[in-house]
Amino acid sequence: MYIFDSVQKIKREFVSLKKNEVSLYVCGPTVYDDAHLGHAKSALVFDLLSRVLRAEGYNVKYARNITDIDDKIIKKATELGVSIKEITDKYTEAYHADMAHLGIQRPDIEPKATESLDAMFLMIQNLLNRGHAYQISNGDIYFDTASDAEYLSISHRVQNEDEKQNRVLNSNEKKNSADFALWKTIADGDISFDSPFGKGRPGWHLECSAMIEKHLTCKDTKYAIDIHGGGADLLFPHHENEAAQTRCSTNHEIAAYWMHNGFVNIDGEKMSKSLGNSFFIKDALKVYDGEVLRFYLLSTHYRSNFNFNEEDLLASKKRLDKLYRLKKRLFGLEVHSDMQTAFKTKLLDALKDDLNVSTALSVIDEMISLVNETLDSAGKHKELKREAMIDMAYIEELLGFGLENPFEYFQTGVDKETKVKIKELIEERNEAKKAKDFATSDSLRDQILSYGITIMDTPQGTFWERV
Ligand SMILES: [Zn+2]
Repeated sequence: MYIFDSVQKIKREFVSLKKNEVSLYVCGPTVYDDAHLGHAKSALVFDLLSRVLRAEGYNVKYARNITDIDDKIIKKATELGVSIKEITDKYTEAYHADMAHLGIQRPDIEPKATESLDAMFLMIQNLLNRGHAYQISNGDIYFDTASDAEYLSISHRVQNEDEKQNRVLNSNEKKNSADFALWKTIADGDISFDSPFGKGRPGWHLECSAMIEKHLTCKDTKYAIDIHGGGADLLFPHHENEAAQTRCSTNHEIAAYWMHNGFVNIDGEKMSKSLGNSFFIKDALKVYDGEVLRFYLLSTHYRSNFNFNEEDLLASKKRLDKLYRLKKRLFGLEVHSDMQTAFKTKLLDALKDDLNVSTALSVIDEMISLVNETLDSAGKHKELKREAMIDMAYIEELLGFGLENPFEYFQTGVDKETKVKIKELIEERNEAKKAKDFATSDSLRDQILSYGITIMDTPQGTFWERV
């Protein structure tokens, strides 16, 4: 497997720290508002990565945190006059629901900042003991960036002259303008947490380093974890600071590989027709099917910036429709074992190359054409049809789409009431057919078709879809 390491800026062969095991950490959401398409993209990319690693035979330990301590949360709770837990519970639940609609599997561990304070205190104490942190007169504790010779080795950022001079000009007791808070003192009465350093709240960067150390770290290795992921916007300062804290408080670097996904932009003019300019997943889900959104958001390589526009989304839907049309043709047929190896290997190989989704999708397109051609020429020969079978379950497991019943998939857009009515009519028709009352069954059939749908009688039952 090859991964583009966004710190070394090259594609590297992936070698895990421990045989057959992979530890993966991804920065999760700060739960003070609904999740937007950027959150979806990041969660989808690393959902795909963990699926590919598992298909490769690795035992994956995937952690994605919930930041439930943050100034934005505290601000919102204060404004609304509610507890921070009320805010964070609400938006954590909403986040989970949105991700589930996109077919994103829950990570193995989902640590919360509020439940990891012990690990943060330990890390701050280690940094103070080792001379990498200092406390100012109001009690705030800062990381001393000048004490870390490797600082900026993650983002390769170059500090400009102003930043360097700030060291002297700084009036707020910070030694260097780049120094960042590990602990912020908050006076009694405000929303704060008890700590050995007084009441306050931890710095955001600290939360991730401490959670990695608590939940994922490999103790005797050069790196704490195998892969650290997140959005490209987190590279600086967040990931730089995470790396500095881990490097200076423990005996290892934080991650052997770094992966960053691109941004999601919205094509404003076109999107305004249906979505306004909302980035929220919940709004997109009102207009588009979750599976179509998943397919669409995954169809661009994870490192590229993603320009969300309706035309591309509809083109994606057509591509997914083709897969479902094939699934429908294959419905009820058994899969022959061992016949899928070539296709499976090709698909997995594409994804093992730094999640090359466009190659993977063309492998699927090719497979769809090939199977359709074989089915066309097989005619009614069941044995030949079986030869053409393809294991849809593999695509479902690896890419997380194609999971629905193919008939129900093509019912999208029909309202609930109509669906109930159609189901009733189909049942009545089946009864009439059983009783050999063909006049009634024919008339019911006409009634059903008047809804603008087609029906298919199969050995597994009667199914319908939109014309
Ligand atoms: Zn983080």
